[in-house]
Amino acid sequence: MKKDIIIVGGGCIGLMSAYCLLKSGRNITIIDKGDLTDGTSFGNAGLLSAFKKAPLSSPGVILDTLKLILKGESPVSVHPTFDLNLYKWLLKFVANSTEAKLKKTLALFERYGQISLDMYETMIKEDGMDFYFCKDGLLMIYTEEKTFDEKVLHCNDKNAYEILSKKRTKEYMPILNEKVIGSILLKENGHIDPGEFMFELQKYLEKKGVEFLLNEKVDKLEFKGSKVSKINTNNNSYEADTLILSTGADDKLAKQAKNKFMMTPAKGYSITFKMPEALKPKTSALFADLFIAMTPRRDTVRITSKLELGTTNPNVIKKQIDSIHKNIDLYTNYFEKENIIEWAGFRPLTPNDIPIIGYDEKYNNLVHATGLGWLGITFAPAIGKIVNDIITVDKKNTTNVDVLLFSAFYQG
Ligand SMILES: Cc1cc2nc3c(=O)[nH]c(=O)nc-3n(C[C@H](O)[C@H](O)[C@H](O)COP(=O)(O)OP(=O)(O)OC[C@H]3O[C@@H](n4cnc5c(N)ncnc54)[C@H](O)[C@@H]3O)c2cc1C
Repeated sequence: MKKDIIIVGGGCIGLMSAYCLLKSGRNITIIDKGDLTDGTSFGNAGLLSAFKKAPLSSPGVILDTLKLILKGESPVSVHPTFDLNLYKWLLKFVANSTEAKLKKTLALFERYGQISLDMYETMIKEDGMDFYFCKDGLLMIYTEEKTFDEKVLHCNDKNAYEILSKKRTKEYMPILNEKVIGSILLKENGHIDPGEFMFELQKYLEKKGVEFLLNEKVDKLEFKGSKVSKINTNNNSYEADTLILSTGADDKLAKQAKNKFMMTPAKGYSITFKMPEALKPKTSALFADLFIAMTPRRDTVRITSKLELGTTNPNVIKKQIDSIHKNIDLYTNYFEKENIIEWAGFRPLTPNDIPIIGYDEKYNNLVHATGLGWLGITFAPAIGKIVNDIITVDKKNTTNVDVLLFSAFYQG
């Protein structure tokens, strides 16, 4: 069966690519091995955190993590593995954690974060999508005096930062206990309910004629000369003028096209529950010293944490959930949680927080769109726009400024 554009992977990156290509008048088929209800793009924190928020690969991150390991509060764990690629990834991660890279990455984050925020607003205002979206900042909560004092020194821009005392911080998050030192509101950031967003976007795309082939797994790509000639699933075989691989942390198909991307699955967890309305956080918050996020949504609150490397086990591991509860209990008073849903998923993490976007170097009808790590929701609209630009306008990586700036093909 011959198609115009096939997108393999209906996470936020696949759906946003479809949205932008649809606006350019293309015919799109999305194939996903799941049913689009529970993947990484659904269970995440939903933070839109491109502004003034340091990337993972930041100077000092190794030392900070070691400190947390010693305190028994570390959100990061590396499982022993024989996979040499993980150790190469870790070396590259350390090499990227420099001041010079930090400055550049922060500037790129702001550029693509702003494009994304604007596009989320457009989807609500002009396309009539109804998903929970707030542009009311991200509260960075500090539990260590020294870290807080150091951060405050760099927060001079009144448009971007608001420094909050312990008392004011507790107004934003009434469950906090006395151990909290204070917080910094990063005013330009926002948050969404990612599940609602995905549901609304899928509904919109279906209404506009995008074809969804769900519960269908692409097992094998075939190649002829400089093209992907066949896309074989467990049910069928397809051909496409253009194939987009947006398979998140699963790089098996990219590997069939002989790519060895520097990307590793980084497992994380979320716990979603109802809590008394008066105690809900007033905006999204991140315990800066602990790597725990707390996001209010329409009826629930979601806590996310953990970054596990060297595992592909998809199960929710009780020990990790207990550890998240234990860490959050250290800095909060007791509060009631009802209808708890526990979830785990994988971030497609590159060692420098730069995604993998652009035409394949060998096959000229193949486009890659992955590697968004812990920021897929933050940047999904901008990535969709870039994918559309290269396919409908530029046709080459080297003639697209965004690919040159924001793809691991060039920013290794
Ligand atoms: C705990 C946690 C918290 C997070 N918090 C945030 C946050 O606050 N803000 C933020 O911006 N980001 C956050 N992220 C990151 C964000 O969720 C991811 O970057 C994003 O969801 C990745 O989207 P994706 O479309 O690339 O991949 P996915 O959502 O994983 O989608 C890939 C899809 O490809 C399909 N697929 C794979 N292989 C095949 C195949 N062979 N055939 C058919 N289908 C296939 C899968 O079924 C899946 O549906 C978080 C992630 C985690 C784990």
